[in-house]
Amino acid sequence: MTTEQATSRNDTLFARAQLTTPGGVNSPVRAFRSVGGTPRFITRALGPHFWDADGKRYIDYIGSWGPAILGHARPEVVSAVQAAAANGLSFGAPTEGEIEIAEEICRLLPSIEQVRLVSSGTEATMSALRLARGATGRDKIVKFEGCYHGHADSLLVKAGSGLLTFGNPTSAGVPEDFVKHTLVLDYNDVAQLEDAFATMGDEIACVIVEPVAGNMNLIRATPEFLQSMRDLCTKHGAVLIFDEVMCGFRVGLQGAQGMYGIQPDLTALGKVIGGGMPVAAFGGRAELMQKMAPIGPVYQAGTLSGNPVAVAAGMTTLKLIQEAGFYERLSATANRLVAGLTEAAREAGIDFCGDAVGGMFGMYFSKEVPGSYSEMMAGDKERFNRFFHGMLDEGVYFAPAMFEAGFVSIQHDDAAIDETIEAARRVFKRIG
Ligand SMILES: *Cc1c(COP(=O)(O)O)cnc(C)c1O
Repeated sequence: MTTEQATSRNDTLFARAQLTTPGGVNSPVRAFRSVGGTPRFITRALGPHFWDADGKRYIDYIGSWGPAILGHARPEVVSAVQAAAANGLSFGAPTEGEIEIAEEICRLLPSIEQVRLVSSGTEATMSALRLARGATGRDKIVKFEGCYHGHADSLLVKAGSGLLTFGNPTSAGVPEDFVKHTLVLDYNDVAQLEDAFATMGDEIACVIVEPVAGNMNLIRATPEFLQSMRDLCTKHGAVLIFDEVMCGFRVGLQGAQGMYGIQPDLTALGKVIGGGMPVAAFGGRAELMQKMAPIGPVYQAGTLSGNPVAVAAGMTTLKLIQEAGFYERLSATANRLVAGLTEAAREAGIDFCGDAVGGMFGMYFSKEVPGSYSEMMAGDKERFNRFFHGMLDEGVYFAPAMFEAGFVSIQHDDAAIDETIEAARRVFKRIG
């Protein structure tokens, strides 16, 4: 049972949306299937807040699932978008803005010498995989359970029945033949990774990983895990792909690669680099990137890739996150939130803990911070769902599933965090 009083206009819109859109939403997690209830239809957003169709205000902790690092409707970003739009929306021919954002990405992330812009994180990881396979002439890829890399066929895979067996599709419509090259291993398990390379090292095209995982709640990789991955890929001539679509420019200005001091061969980016517009990218060592069409044999293209309006939003965002003290403030905010929530849960006698890295945070209804997918899944989902709905009633919007990370923006000020913690104190008491 939830305590939520679903409100009329959201209900009406949800009923109407379901007539013409499967499940009423254009991306599954928005539908509240995991927590139950009616999704909120958003009408506008400003700073750390958004408002639903009934005019109710929420403190927003999903930030468009990561992009809204500057807070919503930041005036500098909005003006840049308006100025770009006034000059035309899309040309299908190159622009100087694309050079500028590529130069900025290469300057900020030393592992990236060349970069290709695309329109979604899915395209970025899918293309990075194709490049890794094209460059190595190998087919097999390694991914980790609980990491999400977008919805390309060979990545919609869960672990097979035994260690070192190939995966099973997690979606209808994905042929077994496509996933039979995908090996799914446990996150943070160095021994499994060593086994995989010992058995089939010369057949592995690449290892793809979220170096700070944000799609199974927030789970940090251990430094040993990433370092052994780096060493094994180098030794066996496999390509190491960091999927930093979520953690890039979110955990720090140099992303997870800067935080851990480990250089991948290729990086996938998205979310923050579009500042709320559809920009994503993949990039890495020039010698690898030169294998891309039009100069190399690996094909990839996009009508709206490097779209001038989207790039204007992204470039302005990349400039503003470089203001002095930005990431210190962002992490202090996320840490204060997690500490406050943990204290409020403790007062109510609820098993709860949290973690935060830069502007990302995790909340776990368990005694200890999880280190893998199975540990995360052991959390108290039913209690999370009651917490979620209680907070929603209080005007605080957390991700509508226990398996998702949370996000703060630079505009989540002390007032917003204090209000959240006070609300959590009331909700924890009710669900304790
Ligand atoms: C969001 C995400 C993707 C997919 O990006 P889309 O823009 O939704 O296609 C890929 N990888 C990671 C780590 C993500 O968080």
